Amino acid sequence: MSDSVAQIPLFKVFMAPEAALLPRLREVLYSGQIGEGPPVAEFEQRFGAFVGQPQVLSFYSGTAALHVALLLAGVGPGAEVISTAMTAEPTNLAILHAGAQVVWADVDPRNGNLAPGAIAAKITPRTRAIMVVHYGGVPASMAAIRALAVSHGLPVIEDAAHALGARYAGQPIGGQSEYAMYSLQAIKHLTTVDGGMLACRNPTDLPRGRRLRWFGIDRAAPRTEVDVAEVGYKYHMNNVTATIGLVQLEHIRPVIARHIANGKYFDAALRGIAGIELCAWDAAAEPSYWFYTVLAERRDELARRLTELGIGNSLAHKRNDRHSVFAASRCELPGLDRFYDAMLHIPCGWWVGDAERERIADALRQGW
Ligand SMILES: *Cc1c(COP(=O)(O)O)cnc(C)c1O
Repeated sequence: MSDSVAQIPLFKVFMAPEAALLPRLREVLYSGQIGEGPPVAEFEQRFGAFVGQPQVLSFYSGTAALHVALLLAGVGPGAEVISTAMTAEPTNLAILHAGAQVVWADVDPRNGNLAPGAIAAKITPRTRAIMVVHYGGVPASMAAIRALAVSHGLPVIEDAAHALGARYAGQPIGGQSEYAMYSLQAIKHLTTVDGGMLACRNPTDLPRGRRLRWFGIDRAAPRTEVDVAEVGYKYHMNNVTATIGLVQLEHIRPVIARHIANGKYFDAALRGIAGIELCAWDAAAEPSYWFYTVLAERRDELARRLTELGIGNSLAHKRNDRHSVFAASRCELPGLDRFYDAMLHIPCGWWVGDAERERIADALRQGW
């Protein structure tokens, strides 16, 4: 690769302009109140408005939010949680944190998301929840998954870490279910450096969720009068990261809009290229394209070619069923085999300009 060719990274951290962020950050850092206080509550309220769900709890990470969602859903030792292996590890480690067993359901080989029929086949009397990931920002088949969950009386936890700004049936992603988690980790659409948000449909989950994220203690009560009645964690967000989040929120709409515009460009520009199959999804799904996934023949050769051309690309995630920590869950997943052997993620985010996306499409058209 020649030095003159600019690299197009697969991921890039978005941080609001210094002029907007630094004065607010300086103010909070020297305010004498850097723990959990009013900026955290304000960020929860504004984030909730952004995703169209008023009942939102903040956490120091998405993983912590998932752990608490599982506890609120009644998941514990002896329970089974149906989940996908095509995700980042935190989705499934959180199930182990809750003491439950991971049960893999197969994915739709067209997009890597859980296949509703495969979920149905894995429901047992011990199933306590269904964990759904919107992989890469492509919404899973929520209409069918919700119908299944309702008919079995099972809560759904949506891991929307990749899907902020995506929509399903005209609504922001996450609002379909009992719980929805959004990660604010460094390379997600919106970052607070680290953080996670949990939207809860049931209002009675909020006080317990607040206790679980802070040592089991009700912070509103006088400290010597509280009773810690169940094990809680140190999972809360602080005023500093919440302030970053408040400023980030003011700048995030064009960021997400550019991910989506680039994704739609690739949906059109890459159609019909020999050796490439595009992902497919429900008509009701509107992805927010965290990255763009192609299904490629001779995928590893394409990956090498793109790297030579300075175009970032990666599998991004190892299928989780191949980790020994999940050995007890192993089973046949033929849909995942097909998806995982062909998938390659290419850059699609706010940093990909018109010239860059044309360069990427041209590289794919030239063949490999
Ligand atoms: C980033 C991510 C999470 C949460 O990760 P945190 O770093 O704890 O915020 C969960 N699930 C998926 C699929 C992710 O990509």
